[in-house]
Amino acid sequence: MSQPKVLLLGPPGAGKGTQSSNVVDEYGVDHVTTGDALRANKDMETDHGTPREYMEAGELVPDPVVNEIVKAALEEADGFVLDGYPRNLSQAEYLDDITDLDLVALLEVDREELIARLTGRRVCDGCGTNYHVEFQPPAQEGVCDDCGGELVQRDDDTEETVKDRLDVFDENTQPVVDFYDEAGRLVRVDGHGTPDEVWASLREEIEAST
Ligand code: AMP
Repeated sequence: MSQPKVLLLGPPGAGKGTQSSNVVDEYGVDHVTTGDALRANKDMETDHGTPREYMEAGELVPDPVVNEIVKAALEEADGFVLDGYPRNLSQAEYLDDITDLDLVALLEVDREELIARLTGRRVCDGCGTNYHVEFQPPAQEGVCDDCGGELVQRDDDTEETVKDRLDVFDENTQPVVDFYDEAGRLVRVDGHGTPDEVWASLREEIEAST
């Protein structure tokens, strides 16, 4: 079987990062995520300014910048799990031009739960492991269990920016969901369960699609 090409859609906080790690561990594919790529290049000068200006406002970074990142990453990948892209229709059309997807899965989680997940999220500034102050606390407050690094809140996980990001999803990315849905290409996965429960459902869909 060739390596699966999976697109994970869902609002911020739906668990795309967690489930992408499961896909990577299971199938050995590349994790392509525009959010991480942009965070690593926040101050990169582009024709449209730096990614930081957009990210700190919870807005989308301009298409030419993210399209370029995704094209380069997919060219190098055999299989992949793509997360955080496409976020608008023009990115979705661009993606169809450069690859064939095996599965488009939407992780569905309601808004209240998303806000609780995101505002309580803490990330290790050493190794990137995610925690949650309530749902998945570290053994010692503020310290990473894995590497002893400091746990910090992402700049865009504050309540105000989280609400903006969810609004941006509803406005820009919901049409992407509709685009795949109307084409009969969308599979819905309930994202409310434990990470293991969600993974069991997603894994079944990947197996069925390849
Ligand atoms: P994420 O980690 O996926 O929530 O992304 C964090 C931020 O990076 C977003 O709020 C956007 O500012 C930017 N970003 C990530 N992916 C994209 C994309 N596909 N298109 C435009 N901006 C993006």
